[in-house]
Amino acid sequence: MTLTNVIEVLEAAYPPGRAESWDAVGLVSGDPAQEVRRVLLAVDPVAAVAEEALDWGADLIVTHHPLYLRGTTTVAATTPKGRLIRTLIKNDVALYTAHTNADVANPGVSDALARAVGLVGDLVPLKPFPDDPWRGLGRIGEVAEGMTLGEFAAQAAKGLPRTFAGLRVAGEPSRPVARVAVSGGAGDSLLATAAAAGVDVFLTADLRHHPASEFVESGGPALIDAAHWATEWPWLDSAASILHASGVTVETRVSATVTDAWTRGY
Ligand SMILES: [Zn+2]
Repeated sequence: MTLTNVIEVLEAAYPPGRAESWDAVGLVSGDPAQEVRRVLLAVDPVAAVAEEALDWGADLIVTHHPLYLRGTTTVAATTPKGRLIRTLIKNDVALYTAHTNADVANPGVSDALARAVGLVGDLVPLKPFPDDPWRGLGRIGEVAEGMTLGEFAAQAAKGLPRTFAGLRVAGEPSRPVARVAVSGGAGDSLLATAAAAGVDVFLTADLRHHPASEFVESGGPALIDAAHWATEWPWLDSAASILHASGVTVETRVSATVTDAWTRGY
């Protein structure tokens, strides 16, 4: 398989045209004609992931987060990102990113998150595209049977990969939960949308004190704040499955390296 073959599959599933205008998705390094046998999937393009790729002999790393979201004027080894890209190029490892285009895809990042935390039945976007009701940001689904907020949080914690911070919950643990909205990554901007959707809980990452406090005070859904990395990690399996289902003959590996920014507490 060539890198072009793999990219064609990824771009059919995650059309780059659906990425936000501020985003930086697609091929970061590599030659479209190069051969690809092993694909490592990871959330973050960081040194630990590059090391894992070299150890395993990956030809391609597919990450969710862009390496150069805000551009750059140097790839010298004087910065961490420069060192990383230099290592990848020297070792012939390609790097490809599917970010907000994977968020809004169907299935996308929030579908995988919804299933990981135990939502069942049809999943519908929390904020659908005006021209496509089945694609868009976030997902709304249901729990298998009525449960309390505390029980749902415990189920969600079990379904997500472990991180130091685990889950933080805002809301009475005895509150009943039936409908749940989820959004992988930083979901602050979807708080009002989740409230308007009338769900019982909104699970996302990177929530801040004031918006969360005001949201709960105003009688909105309960909130669950997970580690950013953990909310996006379940998508890696889904992307690997799409590669396999497409018939491209590559070996895939989902990186289990925890690259969430928060690693310890005191
Ligand atoms: Zn993210």
